[in-house]
Amino acid sequence: MANQEEQFKKVVAHAKEYGYVVQSSEIYDGLSAVYDYSHNGVELKNNIREYWWKAMVQFHENIVGIDAAILMHPTTWKASGHVDAFNDPLIDNKDSKKRYRADVLIEDYAEKLLQKAQKEIEKAAQRFGEAFDEEQYKSTNPRVLGYLTERDQVLTRMAKSLENNDLADVKALIDELEITCPVSGSKNWTEVKQFNLMFGTKLGADAETAMDLYLRPETAQGIFVNFLNVQKSGRMKIPFGIAQTGKAFRNEIVARQFIFRMREFEQMEMQFFIRPGEQMKWYDIWKKRRMAWHLSLGMGAENYRFHKHEKLAHYADAASDIEFNFPFGFKELEGIHSRTDFDLSSHEKFSGKKLQFFDPELNESYVPYVIETSIGLDRMFLAIFSNSLMDETLEDQSVRTVLKLPAILAPVKAAILPLVKKDGLPEIAHQIIADLKFDFNVIYDDKDAIGRRYRRQDAVGTPFCITVDHQTLEDQTVTIRHRDSMEQNRVRIDALKNIIAQEVSISSWLKKMQEAL
Ligand code: ATP
Repeated sequence: MANQEEQFKKVVAHAKEYGYVVQSSEIYDGLSAVYDYSHNGVELKNNIREYWWKAMVQFHENIVGIDAAILMHPTTWKASGHVDAFNDPLIDNKDSKKRYRADVLIEDYAEKLLQKAQKEIEKAAQRFGEAFDEEQYKSTNPRVLGYLTERDQVLTRMAKSLENNDLADVKALIDELEITCPVSGSKNWTEVKQFNLMFGTKLGADAETAMDLYLRPETAQGIFVNFLNVQKSGRMKIPFGIAQTGKAFRNEIVARQFIFRMREFEQMEMQFFIRPGEQMKWYDIWKKRRMAWHLSLGMGAENYRFHKHEKLAHYADAASDIEFNFPFGFKELEGIHSRTDFDLSSHEKFSGKKLQFFDPELNESYVPYVIETSIGLDRMFLAIFSNSLMDETLEDQSVRTVLKLPAILAPVKAAILPLVKKDGLPEIAHQIIADLKFDFNVIYDDKDAIGRRYRRQDAVGTPFCITVDHQTLEDQTVTIRHRDSMEQNRVRIDALKNIIAQEVSISSWLKKMQEAL
């Protein structure tokens, strides 16, 4: 645990020091759970968004994109259920005065039970060696069985109480499990209350006639209200999808995990419209496709897992999260939800407009069902950034800090470094930049000794360093150094473009995604 915390602190400090993420309005001591992306951060964020967009819109003939406004007609949020049901159950600890999400406290308790079971299983696997049968051990060992059964019971009971809005039972569960406040260590809790997460604002200058609006808490509704426009103007046929990226706002109760839980964040969502009754087929397909997208980035299959929802949101008939192994453990990174026809039907009711599709094959009109994939761009940023940051001990026992970002996402693709600031080497370096800048984001750096410049680029995550030296003057070759292997080769200047393109071209990464399918 201490190790995890240390690692997480390093991630936050590194993000600031190397121009990735800083607290918003820092000179005024910051605004809680709101962050700014600095010069490298914005590039990484743009690259993640672009990779998602290409994988969804460019890669699928039947998906198109939109960009809807953040402000929407207030009835939208009545129809979507957010006014009545977008609540989190909150609880306060009377001693520490800290506020928590009651469901998260219980989920953390359940996660500890799972970890205990996993520890027992790992120990047994070592003891039994090759003969070990994990499934059999899980279902017969009393201790493991006890942990797993208790975990199931706890989660099922919580899901039921939340579904019935039985907040007294959620409180009773916290008491029965003797959950303590992580800050004060006490069990002195208040009652559980519901808290609506939407930010309100006003439209219009006149206090009396001003209209109450909300900042959108999800981008999805902008897609639903545009369903018919896009279907008609794009002549789309079911099944088809609409994708969108953009800001969303939630007045989160507990926001302590850097850019994991923010009050202003960005989502990348896709709603896939299908025939009623086909939802389980498409739900499975989209689970696979989204996992393949993640795996294509090469961050290790062991760092992802699916988590099936016990408690379903009011609109869903099936839901799974893709969880990622963040520095603080496995947590939700993306949601894949089967939303039924809830949203479109509800907008039909509230707007009085038909939101249906005439299916020529079935010769009938219906309100389509929807499979949604919804990922937080900032959470994806954190997953990539934290997974890529490492300290490596080298052969000479020195330690280098390196940010092994997937090359396609790295802010800067290559740094061009003249070995010395004279003899015409800077001029050649600038000429190389003038050629490469048509295709890639590249930078020039001539400060400090070459070894220090390499380390600086390692820490920023630049996949290639290109060094211009005296031999360059004679034969038009340079040294290209690879960030991860630290290998150096001598190559001709005119070969650079192809070498870099091979590593960072979007097509080769999309092919990896297809292979993972
Ligand atoms: P959580 O359970 O963590 O609050 P959620 O289930 O409410 O998340 P969704 O409403 O399904 O999340 O939103 C889809 C995605 O948007 C999430 O998987 C996550 O990546 C991202 N997301 C949601 N809330 C936030 C937030 N406050 N800050 C950053 N990203 C968020």
